[in-house]
Amino acid sequence: MDGTAAAPTQATDCHGGRETMLEAARAAGKTEMLAGLAKDYPRGPHDQPQSMCPAFGSLRVGLRMRRTATILSGSACCVYGLTFTSHFYGAKRTVGYVPFNSESLVRGQLFEDIRTAVHDMAKPEEYDTVVIINLCVPTASGVPLDLLPKSINGVRIIGIDVPGFGVPTHAEAKDVLAGAMLRYARTEAEAGPVQRPRVVQEMPTVTLVGELFPADPVGVGAMLAPMGLAVAPQLPSREWRDLYAALDSRVVAAVHPFYTASIREFQAAGRPIVGSGPVGVEGTDAWLSAIGAAANVGAAEIDAAKARTLNPMRGALAGMRMKSRVTVSGYEGSELLVARLMIELGCEVPYVGTACPRTPWSDLDREWLNAHGCHVQYRASLEQDVAAMLEVKPDLAIGTTPLVQKAKELGTPAIYFTNMVSARPLLGIPGIGAMAAIVKAQTKSPERFAGMVAFFDGVGTGDNTGYGWQGTPEAHPQFREKYRKQRLAREKTLANQSMGS
Ligand code: SF4
Repeated sequence: MDGTAAAPTQATDCHGGRETMLEAARAAGKTEMLAGLAKDYPRGPHDQPQSMCPAFGSLRVGLRMRRTATILSGSACCVYGLTFTSHFYGAKRTVGYVPFNSESLVRGQLFEDIRTAVHDMAKPEEYDTVVIINLCVPTASGVPLDLLPKSINGVRIIGIDVPGFGVPTHAEAKDVLAGAMLRYARTEAEAGPVQRPRVVQEMPTVTLVGELFPADPVGVGAMLAPMGLAVAPQLPSREWRDLYAALDSRVVAAVHPFYTASIREFQAAGRPIVGSGPVGVEGTDAWLSAIGAAANVGAAEIDAAKARTLNPMRGALAGMRMKSRVTVSGYEGSELLVARLMIELGCEVPYVGTACPRTPWSDLDREWLNAHGCHVQYRASLEQDVAAMLEVKPDLAIGTTPLVQKAKELGTPAIYFTNMVSARPLLGIPGIGAMAAIVKAQTKSPERFAGMVAFFDGVGTGDNTGYGWQGTPEAHPQFREKYRKQRLAREKTLANQSMGS
């Protein structure tokens, strides 16, 4: 499996064309910001993986922080989609919105409206921080969030541009905000005393980077204890003071390897970075060695930590061996770790695709996977993931919504990465049990999927799908062409307005 089977197709962008928007943003003074995004989140080998609006990542990080107000500035349709998605994922917070129209955008009134909104929200009794996120159109129009005050009444103000034409995935958009907050917190810590963490650790700590299943950091803490290390509040953080504690760690573990801007802040604070994560016996063995070495822990303590964890892990793996063939695709950043664990469980994993870019922090996992016959595709497109699944014919396809849909149409057992795999432990011994249970449950009766295909036989495909029609729905390509032209004309007008503002 070499991953070259499918050339990714160029999807129509919701923001109306990357090049047009990039040009508009550059003309509006955003050249430096765009160059920073391109450096931190390189595209390629193709344009952009297909996933949800990238800004969702930043929004989610903001909404999960205590005493943090998050405001969006963008088109109403984008904001509708983003608020819908955030509440679907249980945000339980209000999403702020500063609306605009062509006139307020072109005349610069939008920035004034944002400034007013930020002043209104900056109430120290309610908030530590106000985050304002520029979506595609305000970014392309050059709305200068960097001109907002850095602080109002002691409330920190953080403005970020998260355009879909500049940030490839929602995973990396998490890093845009996490990195911006970390930079702010680092500057505060360098300037003088800062708030103590809620729980003060007696031992030196390790900061875990990435959104992890809540039990995973607890398990990692138990693994680290024999080395005299504890777990720091992780990044993305849950409240502002956690950022200081995360910065104050002895070692940073880039469990999710795509947090480039955040890692830069940790490195600026002098913290060593360790890639990969404690998955499976080989992964955990290597990770404990690397963490111990980075934290200057003695060989005896590292051995003690391994002795406590590795033998029970071997037992757990031996009791749950399986022989399924699995493909893994996703956009969470933990895809390589999941594939490693599957292979240690005995599965054959010929392909893992991740929408995230290649960074140094996943090198060990990539090398290990390659050595075990697994092709690793960074910036994987849906087409590449689907082609891999068609070629490999797995017993189980783990992937994104469209991939799972395709697999189910073919009668291939398939589950969603985000809802199923990311919603369970991955690290340490609990990860072994959780992963084995997922694969066993999904592969034990593949005939269910064949039954499903038979049940839906004859209902048509694509836009001809339907149940209860008297005949096949008729295609009217002339209407499509008419609306396509209208859409293009609208987009061109909007882009011209943006460039003229
Ligand atoms: S902000 Fe940009 S990428 Fe996101 S939905 Fe709107 S147009 Fe699309």
